[in-house]
Amino acid sequence: MDSVTATGQLMIGGEWRRPTDGGTLDVVDPSTGEVFAVIGRGDAADIDAAVVAARNAFDGGWGEGDPVERGRLLSRLGRLIERDAERLYQLEARDTGKPLAQARADIAACARYFEFYGGAIDKHHGETLPYKPGFTVLTVREPYGVTGHIIPWNYPAQVFGRTIGGGLAAGNACVLKPAEDACQVPLALADLALEAGFLPGVVNVVTGLGSEAGAALASHPGIDHISFTGSPATGASVQAAAARHNHPVTMELGGKSPQIVFDDADLDAAIPFLVAAIVQNAGQTCSAGSRMLVQSGIADRLLDTLAERFRALITGPSASDPDCGPLINAKQKQRVDGFLDRAREDGLPILAQGRLADALPDGGHYVPPTLIDQVPVEHPLAQEEVFGPVLSVLRFDDEAEAIRLANATPFGLVAGVWTQDGARQLRVARRVRAGQVFVNNYGAGGGVELPFGGVGKSGFGREKGFEALNHFSTLKTIAIKHD
Ligand code: NAD
Repeated sequence: MDSVTATGQLMIGGEWRRPTDGGTLDVVDPSTGEVFAVIGRGDAADIDAAVVAARNAFDGGWGEGDPVERGRLLSRLGRLIERDAERLYQLEARDTGKPLAQARADIAACARYFEFYGGAIDKHHGETLPYKPGFTVLTVREPYGVTGHIIPWNYPAQVFGRTIGGGLAAGNACVLKPAEDACQVPLALADLALEAGFLPGVVNVVTGLGSEAGAALASHPGIDHISFTGSPATGASVQAAAARHNHPVTMELGGKSPQIVFDDADLDAAIPFLVAAIVQNAGQTCSAGSRMLVQSGIADRLLDTLAERFRALITGPSASDPDCGPLINAKQKQRVDGFLDRAREDGLPILAQGRLADALPDGGHYVPPTLIDQVPVEHPLAQEEVFGPVLSVLRFDDEAEAIRLANATPFGLVAGVWTQDGARQLRVARRVRAGQVFVNNYGAGGGVELPFGGVGKSGFGREKGFEALNHFSTLKTIAIKHD
């Protein structure tokens, strides 16, 4: 499969084919800046062909298929991903720059999505409803038909599993537009889907630029639903395009997720999570715990220990399996550096930075994990998604202030609450504006069973878990008068 991904082809209707106009895009290794592959630069004509192929597959039997058989296909794909895990995680690490251990975990999560949905889909059912005498009323779940999926570069394997796993399980035929910066694994997974036995046209992958293939998919009249994962700005343009056809959308957008640490927290338990939540994937994670809200009584003690941990973190190329890998590209590094310059200009205390590995490749985009104290709530570092390994610290005195600070951004994706007080755990979890709240743990990436999605600028709709099956299907009510 590597040779196919390297030759710039698209997966349309069960066949590898070159983009209609033959265009390609270089694929850069973020660790070295070197080109290591090319992908196809698909455009509107290729999206059109993929939507037609998906429609033919849906109408040609997939849409009315046996859910038990569909579940078996999904499970088989999960097992093929496990079989090829070594090859896939190496590819994911090279393509995204993430450390090997993180790429390995991502491939395991991707396989787990297919295992989960393989087992779930024959248990997803409607209801019978009480209604007037002489009636029987039931609801049935039906697939939308052809679903479009646009995904980002930060977790191509995991987000493929999440969105394509849910979409296929509900009985849709899918057209995926992965991100131009990282799409090797989605292409390889499309190949494995064929091997698993999915009907040609059920899984289509069109690589290309967001402004070309992405925009063409979002505005295509022939799709029935679109699931978008990416930045709030692009999400808004995808919604506008979908609105022209009244297409339903799921929006999985960004975050500025708080980790709230109370005086009574078990710090030994919390610290590894506080570090991992911002260092994982070099902070390029929608659910990164990028704001730490810490109660005044323990702030200095916690920050001393965190600073020590940050200083010990090594940033380096993916293949060396460092604590922190490179950022995806030069633009992203410029963005993160811009936030750090702003912190210095504004005199914010930079408590600690990690170390850069010796002899870093020249072309990589490296920023060491950085811990910044006393960030004012209105500062860009407390309000905007940095998408880099930068942890902003804000201090609070009491629970009311903690909740106010936690809710003081336009986002609402994930939150962490660290306290041993049971009543406070529940109070704070209920009052924080977020789609997921973790108490005395943190990490949205695993947990394929747990519904995921945001409120506010973090989006709407849910993927993961059984809930995704509701979002990838439509509900029909059938009212039968029999008396
Ligand atoms: P992005 O919005 O730039 O790109 C996402 C996808 O949209 C890519 O495939 C891109 O090619 C495509 N795209 C770009 N312009 C388009 C257009 N006009 N029409 C249609 N598609 C277009 O996001 P990114 O930089 O790749 O990813 C980072 C963002 O994704 C962050 O904001 C992050 O928080 C978010 N994200 C969210 C989740 C989640 O589940 N909530 C998960 C991962 C990443």
